[in-house]
Amino acid sequence: MAKDYDLVVLGAGTGGYVAAIRASQLGMKVAVVEKENLGGTCLHKGCIPSKALLRSAEVYKTVQKSADFGVETSEPGLNFLKVQERKQGIVDQLHKGVQHLMKKGKIDVFHGHGRILGPSIFSPSPGTISVENNDGSENEMLVPKFVLIATGSRPKTLPGLEIDKEKIMTSDEALQMEELPASITIVGGGVIGIEWASMLADFGVEVTVLEYLPRILPLEDEDISKEMLRAMKKKKVKIVTSAKVLADQVKTDGDKVIVPYEHKGETKYAETEKVLVSVGRAANISDIGLQNTDIKTEKDFIVTNEYYQTKESHIYAIGDVIGGLQLAHVASHEGIAAVEHMADGDPHPVNPDMVAKCTYSSPEAASVGLTEADAKEKGYEVKTGTFPFKAIGKALVNGDTTGFVKFVSDAKTDDLLGVHMVGPHVTDMISEAALAKVLDAAHWEVAETIHPHPSLSEAVGEAALAVDGKAIHGG
Ligand code: FAD
Repeated sequence: MAKDYDLVVLGAGTGGYVAAIRASQLGMKVAVVEKENLGGTCLHKGCIPSKALLRSAEVYKTVQKSADFGVETSEPGLNFLKVQERKQGIVDQLHKGVQHLMKKGKIDVFHGHGRILGPSIFSPSPGTISVENNDGSENEMLVPKFVLIATGSRPKTLPGLEIDKEKIMTSDEALQMEELPASITIVGGGVIGIEWASMLADFGVEVTVLEYLPRILPLEDEDISKEMLRAMKKKKVKIVTSAKVLADQVKTDGDKVIVPYEHKGETKYAETEKVLVSVGRAANISDIGLQNTDIKTEKDFIVTNEYYQTKESHIYAIGDVIGGLQLAHVASHEGIAAVEHMADGDPHPVNPDMVAKCTYSSPEAASVGLTEADAKEKGYEVKTGTFPFKAIGKALVNGDTTGFVKFVSDAKTDDLLGVHMVGPHVTDMISEAALAKVLDAAHWEVAETIHPHPSLSEAVGEAALAVDGKAIHGG
């Protein structure tokens, strides 16, 4: 029998489940359809498990350095199964939390594969959702006023490079490794690649990163990429940029995988026990019934207007499936804006210029707004201020002085254009810069904010002062 809803959300990742909660707060009758686990990529295959592993790597590294703090221990051992157990415990706890939130919001959860149907006896317009239940029971028909497509993304590979899930993995398989390899080649030096490079190097794995573009973290400010490169080299990560992997020639030879790549006109080879492919994410748009609708796609992402409406105005789409910044906090904000638009509320669509982007390697990197190069390309006359953590007392106290904070401002108006950070705890500190962007602050207003002493955030205040050559402690 068909069931009526105000909203059916297809996919309960970060975007989908947050949107469902907001819709229920707005008084809608809501169902979510999820074929795997509530919480999606971020909770089960992305943000949370990867950060749990990174934290274990950080603790391992810190214990190795404990004598520097006057704390003497014997050589630390690494129990990787325990590391994985801890990670899974965190994921399970948060998974229960999402299940509880669905109950609290009186949101019906259907565990199965959802597909959008065309006009039918249930509804004159496309949008009825047919759920193929995971438990094999008869398909359910859900008839909603609105549909929200939040089916997310999956790892991409390079044409010709087969992911065998054993020796050649994506982050999905790497997160489930039961033991660490002695060596690994990471194809792709973007955010995911650099997080894994940092973590595995800290665990003692020999890491090679092959990046096609001339620099790692290519979307970040060039100064951030340079500092990250230095930090990775210090960890003995071998990084090759402008390296074109010959994907269809990658082969397994005994215990090794051989990855040929072109670099400076020569063919070279990386030979390691495992390969991790981190070359971006493809949107989940197949087998969700798009062919039964007028919904448009472009470069395999769903096209929407600024309020996340597709060509079918009652069907919205948000999160990784629409491309743009593929981040959990972007997906959830888009989800909230979409359901507020459905409810004739006051939606605040995501402005990419205000979104904080983070890399959780050690050191961390974080940014908001325009890079210096992007600002210049857009025609701004730019002034910048940079302040290093090595001049910050709290960084010395913590025993980690890598990195800096960089402000990019409009020289004519003093408008804050972008803030870029690399160093300890910058993924937490970037929120101050994001707030400054939302409030349309000038760099000098951030400088006037009194930062507590001693704190790492003093580097933010000092970098803001440095824009006008007023940094107190050098810079
Ligand atoms: P997803 O989380 O992918 O959820 C989509 C859901 O839809 C899935 O659960 C899927 O099973 C379900 N689904 C798909 N098709 C159907 C169907 N037909 N029927 C029913 N269900 C369906 N982002 C950050 O902001 N910070 C980070 O630190 C971070 N780290 C990451 C680390 C890794 C290794 C990876 C891979 C990603 C990371 N991300 C991070 C990105 C983040 O995970 C995604 O941006 C986010 O999960 C997108 O949310 P979403 O709701 O759009 O899609």
